[in-house]
Amino acid sequence: SFTAMVIDTVDGKQQAAFRQLTLADLPDHDVLVEVAFSTVNYKDGLALSGKGRIARRTPMVGGIDLAGVVVESRSDKWVAGDKVVLNGWGLSETEWGGYSRYQRVKAEWLIALPPEFTLEQAMAIGTAGYTAALCVNALEDWGTIGVDDREVLVTGAAGGVGSVAVSLLANKGYKVTASTGRPETHDYLASLGASGFVERATLSEKGGPLQKERWAGAIDSVGSTTLANVLSQIVYGGAVAACGLAGGADLTATVLPHILRNVALLGIDSVMAPVAKRQRAWQTLGQHLNPVHLLALMRIEPMSALPKIAEDIVAGRIRGRVVVEIN
Ligand code: NAP
Repeated sequence: SFTAMVIDTVDGKQQAAFRQLTLADLPDHDVLVEVAFSTVNYKDGLALSGKGRIARRTPMVGGIDLAGVVVESRSDKWVAGDKVVLNGWGLSETEWGGYSRYQRVKAEWLIALPPEFTLEQAMAIGTAGYTAALCVNALEDWGTIGVDDREVLVTGAAGGVGSVAVSLLANKGYKVTASTGRPETHDYLASLGASGFVERATLSEKGGPLQKERWAGAIDSVGSTTLANVLSQIVYGGAVAACGLAGGADLTATVLPHILRNVALLGIDSVMAPVAKRQRAWQTLGQHLNPVHLLALMRIEPMSALPKIAEDIVAGRIRGRVVVEIN
């Protein structure tokens, strides 16, 4: 048997706890993976702490990401020994996830470990980092960042999505301004390439619908009033790639930035993103995520630390990314 972190329903409430499983307990999918590393994203924090209802059925093995080695495969896409990565596809929601020494998954959910990264580094990136890359690609496709020297704003900058977004944008040569509620992370964010800072509170208080045009584009993992303010501060023709709700899922805004300044709100989903988008995002990471930055933004924790990390991430106390060693 092996250890897994399982979300269960106890007295009508979801609760996560370590449990022993055997291979016979795993779902009947085509590829058996020995998981080496997983990670904690904000959504994992919600699922494990019980602060958000992420699992849509229980018992549910948590962990929206995994990286490991194929043990057995009934699919001709993979053979034993292949190093693979899985992000999203409903893991920890409708499908059993990565907090388990072994997991059976569908062949089409897996991608080959990108050659630039180790299994551990792939989880240092994880869904948060791959989503940051989706956001960067969406802004570049929109086409108005980098046309002059105007800055790109990253909100929730010291978090997982934010840290990787800052690093990628800076490496690509954009001027990056980081919005954070933690001034003690300024040196860290500067080391990832941020050249300007905005205090979180200045964006989280309600502002006017058309504010001074300031940002060529933005990557927002906060949502709510912050996103409304960011939209109001985008230059004519610019865009915001919105992927998160760390500050709230609401959005009270006006259409004015969109209809008077041609500003776009680009929605970013990582969970069901098609394979081509995923592959492009991982290519972006392989080419533009500085390995020194990757080392600076990650730390490794044992599986036993999962409950504590989950509490910390929903409380906004995690800097960068946490890799979880599965043992
Ligand atoms: P994270 O590491 O916890 O980062 C979130 C950051 O947001 C925090 O570090 C903090 O940054 C800021 N923040 C936290 N609470 C806040 C509040 N009340 N008001 C304003 N800012 C606050 O989480 P993550 O894993 O990077 O995920 C970030 C967000 O993106 C989450 O909402 C997550 O669900 C979402 N996400 C979505 C997708 C998708 O597919 N769309 C994929 C991945 C993540 P500072 O301390 O720097 O202010």
